[in-house]
Amino acid sequence: MGNIIRLDQHTTNLIAAGEVIERASSVVKELVENSIDAKSSTINISLTDSGLKEIIVSDNGTGMDAVDAKLALEPHATSKISKPNDLFNITTLGFRGEALPSIVAVSNFKLKTCAEGTRGLMIVLKGGEIISEAVVAHPHGTEISVRNLFFNTPARLQNLKSESLELSYIIDYVNKMALANPDIAFKLTNNDKTILKTYGSGNLLEVISNIYGADIAKNMLEIEGRDGYFHISGFSSNISCSRSTRNSITIIVNGRVVRNNNIINAVCEAYKNLFTVGRYPIGVINIEVDTSLVDVNVHPAKLEVRFSNEEGLIKLIIETITNLLSKTDLSVDLGDQLKNVFEVEVDTKPEIKKVASYIDDYNKEIFTSKLPSKDDEEIDDDVLLKEPLKEIVKENYSQKQYTFTRFDEEEEKEQDNKSRLPKLDYIGQLFGTYLLTQGGEFFYLIDQHAANERVNYEKILKNLKNDDVTTYELLIPIKLVFTSNEAILIEDKLSEIRRLGITLEEFGGGTYTVREIPYWIRKGNEKEYVEEIIFQIINNRKQEKYQFLDSLAKSLACKKSVKANEYLGRDEVDYIINELSNCENPFTCPHGRPVIVKFSKYEIEKWFKRIV
Ligand code: ADP
Ligand code: MG
Repeated sequence: MGNIIRLDQHTTNLIAAGEVIERASSVVKELVENSIDAKSSTINISLTDSGLKEIIVSDNGTGMDAVDAKLALEPHATSKISKPNDLFNITTLGFRGEALPSIVAVSNFKLKTCAEGTRGLMIVLKGGEIISEAVVAHPHGTEISVRNLFFNTPARLQNLKSESLELSYIIDYVNKMALANPDIAFKLTNNDKTILKTYGSGNLLEVISNIYGADIAKNMLEIEGRDGYFHISGFSSNISCSRSTRNSITIIVNGRVVRNNNIINAVCEAYKNLFTVGRYPIGVINIEVDTSLVDVNVHPAKLEVRFSNEEGLIKLIIETITNLLSKTDLSVDLGDQLKNVFEVEVDTKPEIKKVASYIDDYNKEIFTSKLPSKDDEEIDDDVLLKEPLKEIVKENYSQKQYTFTRFDEEEEKEQDNKSRLPKLDYIGQLFGTYLLTQGGEFFYLIDQHAANERVNYEKILKNLKNDDVTTYELLIPIKLVFTSNEAILIEDKLSEIRRLGITLEEFGGGTYTVREIPYWIRKGNEKEYVEEIIFQIINNRKQEKYQFLDSLAKSLACKKSVKANEYLGRDEVDYIINELSNCENPFTCPHGRPVIVKFSKYEIEKWFKRIV
């Protein structure tokens, strides 16, 4: 009995502070949110020693009068909501009335504020105790200084990581706040050095440029989509720029920067076949939704949100971005990256070498820095070609007796007008690996292996997805031998194998013969393809049908593409270029590496100083 006491306010404030204020960046976040809620058009954040020594946030917002200013420092004091129902209709960033008292409890705190028609006020506190109060001259707005954060909570002080890491959290957060509020001018400095400056012009692309640089901004695509509940807008990068983390995807819901992995995954999903594994786009996704359909009161930090109908939102995002990317010329424009290469030297030979090696490095760095290991998805160029392309091409152009020849012709007619590439005129082959072509005002370089792989992949996938597959009977049946283990799995999947057009007859002891195969498998590839298809089917444990067919198409496409360092005849080249032009996505290979890069005529004329 008598064990329970009501905690005093200082103790409850310290407890609350633990939830809201975890590190220096939480202070910045809460103070900046208050400045935004106070309708400021300018917000300055100035740090000393990455905020560990001092954080000053000043704004030109509404300010507070003396009564409000003192109340604001008390727990659960807020001007933003007043009754339970307001919680279901939150239009401000703050609403819990917790931030200021929490910060006050764990720091040396100084508030200067002035509201319209009042005199400026300054209040100084240390660890929650008021030390002094005075009337001061202060411009319209508020300035809060937080010094020696966590001086009275040693455990949390220890929890702070290195200065640079704390600073990186702050920069990340301020960047995202700036992206969410292009109409506010932000300035962030550390030890008087400017880290970010935006101008409040209201132009999101300008803020993207301020944060990521003009080259990235140039590569952003504008997105816009809506359904009955959600409106999404913003920018997402084309495939010329990518990042190794998802952190450059900013999600904003009704003006609030939030964390939501499902939404970030949806953005990445749209780029699935365009990037290599481990590369992600840069994006700013603004989501507008009726405030009653989103719950922000999930966690004290207010970074998480819950939506009604999140599935609908995810679908909208994937569709909007996929659709946008499918309409965009995604050839990587190397003009910008090469700007300086041609500036100094005049001898053309080293130049060409330089360009080529630059492109190699560029590809390596941008696209293949995190290629999957060999036994994963990607297969080394050199082990690819079991059958030279010549065979395929000959078949295609001279032997008209097969059904597939007719099929190819039909397909060509059907797709003629939809090409996403201009008409490309062939110039020559470079290093036995790249096809040089010209189209409109651009010079295009095509990686022959990647291009051939893309062509094969799309053709094969289309055929695999076709439910009524036409088959033909082989004159000489293929004999396949499997281990007893595999044979058991095959028995299980016989109908699935048949659905893809392969009819197996068992002879016992793991021996099978194949008499009938789908017509799209080209002559000479039969055994290899059939084996691969069966192998993939029996080893598929968990993939959905579409996913499975997709990865099957990738592995089959890989099997018969021309490789690098192989000199091609003119008909082979024409085949690749024509077929590539007919592809749905001619810009990347199925593993996400670039197929085609371009330079503009304008850029080239600048190299030779025909244009200055
Ligand atoms: P909340 O933001 O959840 O209301 P806070 O503790 O962050 O709670 O702030 C308490 C109150 O102080 C706010 O509701 C607001 O009225 C006032 N306030 C805080 N910062 C500012 C500011 N920069 N300008 C004007 N008023 C402010
Ligand atoms: Mg607040």
